[in-house]
Amino acid sequence: MKTLLLLAGLAFAVTAHAQFRMPSFDINKMVDTVKNVGKAVKEIDEAEEVAIGKDVASRLLGAAPLVADARLQRYVNHVGRWLAVQTERPDLPWQFGVLDSPNVNAFAVPGGTIFITRGLLERMRNEAELAGVLGHEIVHVLRKHHLKAIQKGAQSSLAGDAMSMAIKDRAGPARDKLIAFGTEMYSRGLDKGDELEADRLGIVIAARAGYDAYGLPSVLQTLQAMSAQDSAIALMFKTHPAPGERLDALSEKMQPVLDTYSTQPQLADRFVRQIKK
Ligand SMILES: [Zn+2]
Repeated sequence: MKTLLLLAGLAFAVTAHAQFRMPSFDINKMVDTVKNVGKAVKEIDEAEEVAIGKDVASRLLGAAPLVADARLQRYVNHVGRWLAVQTERPDLPWQFGVLDSPNVNAFAVPGGTIFITRGLLERMRNEAELAGVLGHEIVHVLRKHHLKAIQKGAQSSLAGDAMSMAIKDRAGPARDKLIAFGTEMYSRGLDKGDELEADRLGIVIAARAGYDAYGLPSVLQTLQAMSAQDSAIALMFKTHPAPGERLDALSEKMQPVLDTYSTQPQLADRFVRQIKK
């Protein structure tokens, strides 16, 4: 029954999402409220945020193209958009893509573009795990983690007017520096606090969308079992806190939420049907 409800939800995500709202589930009580988004970021409006994300995404896609499987891309997009409509920024141009890479990774680009690698997808067992990972990435967009980091970092090489030109003028000379810096971010990683916040809120989003809240913790356990010497996961380990540390932080801050929402569907069958050919 729950599976059917969720299926209906995917087809009519925008109209149906109200029925999944859980009245007792107040996101603001569960997580640290971010009070100041930062003065500097306020200068970037949503259209500029989306445009910066597009430019960064096209550089990233140059390094690893999308998997040429329209059905798979559609499925991941459905799950991702269903999660995104649960959030406070449902109207961003959300897009979810599977990159054709054996590496284990996922990342978010400002403005609502989110990528997951084929390598990570193949190590998942059900849709709740996918939802947990996409939820984590969605939080990076909602909280503008990358946007803030890009802006802060680019300020050292783009002083004063050059910075605002880089943001406003997509064809200008300063733009290239901003986007190059933005692209590098994905090999350096975010602050640990941003990652742990994305874990906590990502779980809230997945649970609010109707999934077993243990999806993300379960993926973290899979990562924990992988060897740090495995080159497929080297970048993920370099750019994120260790999986064990993330799991500890979650069990400390997210109980009893995790257990309360642990009986919601995992949707293993549907996931396997869509992922495996
Ligand atoms: Zn992250």
